[in-house]
Amino acid sequence: MRILVVEDDADLNRQLVEILTDAGYVVDTALDGEEGHFLGDTEPYDVVVLDVGLPKMDGITVLESWRADGRNMPVLLLTARDRWSDKVAGMDAGADDYVAKPFHVEEVLARIRALIRRAAGHASSELVCGPIRFDTRTSKVSVSGAGVKLTSHELRLLSYLMHHQDEVISRTELTEHLYDQDFDRDSNTIEVFVGRLRKKLGADSIETVRGLGYRLRSPGDGADQ
Ligand code: CA
Repeated sequence: MRILVVEDDADLNRQLVEILTDAGYVVDTALDGEEGHFLGDTEPYDVVVLDVGLPKMDGITVLESWRADGRNMPVLLLTARDRWSDKVAGMDAGADDYVAKPFHVEEVLARIRALIRRAAGHASSELVCGPIRFDTRTSKVSVSGAGVKLTSHELRLLSYLMHHQDEVISRTELTEHLYDQDFDRDSNTIEVFVGRLRKKLGADSIETVRGLGYRLRSPGDGADQ
């Protein structure tokens, strides 16, 4: 999952990048509203963490502009504790949730997990696909009850597929959501990681849809049967 952090306080920006990276997300950052607006307009993000008070273009204006352009990624606003009017303006502008500063890191992480789940249509924090279980809170994975150890790259890939079960996901989409903007997009690493996941989760776990991409199919999905 790929997250954009738009926060002009350099220390806070760095802190957010650190906790989000530790939690397994890929993170792009912007230090002002203009740069943040541009990135959100041009790159696909699974969540945007957006400060309200930003230089060059304030957070509410950035958000309004995205929504007017049909950009509908989940947005978590960072607001000042005593500015209730920012929260109202933010929700009206199309924010999905907000956290008031100063915040606890765990709260930001929990809200981001919830936004990602909700965007993918999942209510529970444990995602299940046949014998595969993925706990979004702990990042623990099991197959038929037995724990499986995954590397951070494998986890990211599985997390994206588990959130988008039964959808055919192209390699381009995976690359865009699993790597930051500086990543070399020509590489074939996705294929390598799919191969490794199949070894750990079962050869049939991830289906290759020729010419289109990959699909993690849940047993309840009747396509082709
Ligand atoms: Ca600020």
